[in-house]
Amino acid sequence: MTSRNRFVAILMALTLTLPFANALAGSHSEAPPQVLFTNVNVFDGVNEARIENASVLVEGNLIKMISTDAIDAPGATVVDGGGRTLLPGFIEGHAHLMLMGPTLPAMEAGTTWEDFAIHGSRMAKMYLMQGFTTVRDAGGANGGLRRAIDAGQIPGPRFYPSGAFLGTRGGHSDFANFTAPPGGSTNMGRLNLSQEINGPDDALRFGRNNFRMGATQLKFMISGGVVSAFDPWQLLAGSQAEIEAAVQVANEYGSYVMAHAYRKEAVMNALNAGVRSIEHGFSFDCDIAKVMKKKNAYITTNLTAFDPGLLDIPAVANVPASLAKAKSASKTFGNYIENMKKCPVKRAFQTDCVGSVEACNIQIAYEKHLNNEFFGPYTSLVTMTSVGGELVALSGEAMNPYPNAKLGVIEEGAYADILLVDGNPLEDFSVVGTGNKWFGANPRPQSPETIRIIMKDGVIYKNTL
Ligand SMILES: [Zn+2]
Repeated sequence: MTSRNRFVAILMALTLTLPFANALAGSHSEAPPQVLFTNVNVFDGVNEARIENASVLVEGNLIKMISTDAIDAPGATVVDGGGRTLLPGFIEGHAHLMLMGPTLPAMEAGTTWEDFAIHGSRMAKMYLMQGFTTVRDAGGANGGLRRAIDAGQIPGPRFYPSGAFLGTRGGHSDFANFTAPPGGSTNMGRLNLSQEINGPDDALRFGRNNFRMGATQLKFMISGGVVSAFDPWQLLAGSQAEIEAAVQVANEYGSYVMAHAYRKEAVMNALNAGVRSIEHGFSFDCDIAKVMKKKNAYITTNLTAFDPGLLDIPAVANVPASLAKAKSASKTFGNYIENMKKCPVKRAFQTDCVGSVEACNIQIAYEKHLNNEFFGPYTSLVTMTSVGGELVALSGEAMNPYPNAKLGVIEEGAYADILLVDGNPLEDFSVVGTGNKWFGANPRPQSPETIRIIMKDGVIYKNTL
């Protein structure tokens, strides 16, 4: 066994035994186990100033106490942080754990449920080991992956799936073969990864089915995209009645709709229909910011979309229609970052990777890097922690699988989702596991060396102290 394999084996053993041990302890009604972090500097997910020389006590799956005085906890397992930074586990606001690529038509034509499931479980583990203790899935995953993770069968983050994409015929989630008739049976439809919406009744029917299948919120594609086959990015996909029908279903469950929206008209239509989470929103400007604030809405940004290298990837460069779309899109979206700095709104982290686990690992590290490049370390950390926590909580009391405490913050009573990293990420952001190259980057480690401890729900999944 190589030392890396041994490390993985130890990790797996930890993962599989600890929740079981906790359950046993619970059945004997003993006090929940305590972990005491000492000698740490706390970034709480909100405030730029760290709480220096602090101790943090975890009891069971919650943070019980944070103090700059010594905490008396005689039965606790003590972890000496050695002056490192303790911060909330990261929150991915927009992933697709089931979608392994390599292309959208390939997934429709040649992928079985086994392929999707195996890919999803590997992605879940990768995300957790990159420091993400919560992932919101933006289409393609139902409730099964979460059940497996939460039951301790496989390691992974807390998981908020959207069920099948809702999208119009010829829209951004139409993965059917070119010759497939409208409303025809598709691989993605049979597995409830994507459903074709033709009228408000379909939005009601498939929206309700998504919640039945374990979705925590709905995802509607109301713009076209770049790498998909049939949709100009300027497309206004989905009538107001269809979007409102999806919002109605979400409201029935006390949850919300997230919308893939590029064009300004699309973003405004979404906000006016009651959509709470704008995905990409590349036409973002100060008019949009004003409406977003009024509606208490959020945006997630995939900054990799602004990498000039995007025009060189085979899926774009070799497809003339996609290349033309990419060029016109990047011209139109040129003021995105500037506008976001001028009129800031609640912004959450988004990687939006479709592809192999190894490729997504690289993309996540690069997305972290670009956040810091464009917005600096403090705003990036807030985006990756407390804002993400607010965003997933929009799923509401009834549909939120983790409704008992806050996510994305280090505060008393919050869930114990905690990272311990070397150094100070507010000064050197690279310690959160960034990569400054996307295409042609070397494969990344299973977990960044500088992230020393990964704790989710009070359970330690990594400890290299
Ligand atoms: Zn997406």
